[in-house]
Amino acid sequence: MNDRHQHRAKKSLGQNFLIDQNICRKIVDALDPGSDDIIIEIGPGQGALTEHLAEVGAQSLTAIEMDDSLADRLDEDYPDLNVVRCDALKFPWASLNNEPCKIIGNLPYNVGSKLIWDIVSQVTTLQRAVFMVQHEVALRLTSQPNSKAFGGLTAWVKNFCTTTYLFKVPPTVFRPQPKIDSAVVRFDPLPINQWPEDPEKLSGLIKILFQQRRKQISTILKKRWSPAVEAWFDQEGVNPKSRPENLTPEQFRALSKCI
Ligand code: SAM
Repeated sequence: MNDRHQHRAKKSLGQNFLIDQNICRKIVDALDPGSDDIIIEIGPGQGALTEHLAEVGAQSLTAIEMDDSLADRLDEDYPDLNVVRCDALKFPWASLNNEPCKIIGNLPYNVGSKLIWDIVSQVTTLQRAVFMVQHEVALRLTSQPNSKAFGGLTAWVKNFCTTTYLFKVPPTVFRPQPKIDSAVVRFDPLPINQWPEDPEKLSGLIKILFQQRRKQISTILKKRWSPAVEAWFDQEGVNPKSRPENLTPEQFRALSKCI
């Protein structure tokens, strides 16, 4: 993008811009973009990833940017780009569900987890997503049960996608430099017939359990305990005194059906 050095980065919008072309290329390659693809980029900023995405000549390339001054410049620099000026947190993700699509973004740190929570569960036609997030969030997204990093976000996301930790990105490749490391994660959706039948119930259970993650599950669910719940723990061979992080993503889903 022209005059990129004149833009004053807004901390409130998590504006840490990538300046390393090799990293940008690696992130875009991870999406495996092709000319038939419908691609959506979240937070294009000064176009670091957009530039590489535009080279692919995808069927359509849309960029969701909340900063109007950056959106105006993207409009000028990339005539074929559909620039949507909005808060990605309010974007109607289900509106993408007419056709297969791929989503990419170096996500603003403060909204990354929430965006991922919504996208993986609402975009039923998602083919693949690649997001750069805080390193710690990347570890959470890709962690296994029984580990400290396993949390509500992990349990939720893994009911919709497999997640792959791709690579770590140091602060030195951004301007301005963030204080923490970042990492890139790939999301490959599970077949739709393996998605939760009742996502609301699942999200309710995950939120209840991880609000008190240090307690035993039987204590957290005391008020909701029933013969069906008891039977579920027996059948699964899960100790009711386990902590939330000891359940697998599939077990959260199965348990949510009994509650
Ligand atoms: N993609 C660019 C890059 O890698 O250099 C910029 C990444 S920067 C970490 C995040 C971008 O997301 C900024 O351009 C910022 O203005 C935009 N942004 C922040 N919050 C947003 C939101 N809620 N909705 C849409 N865009 C947002």
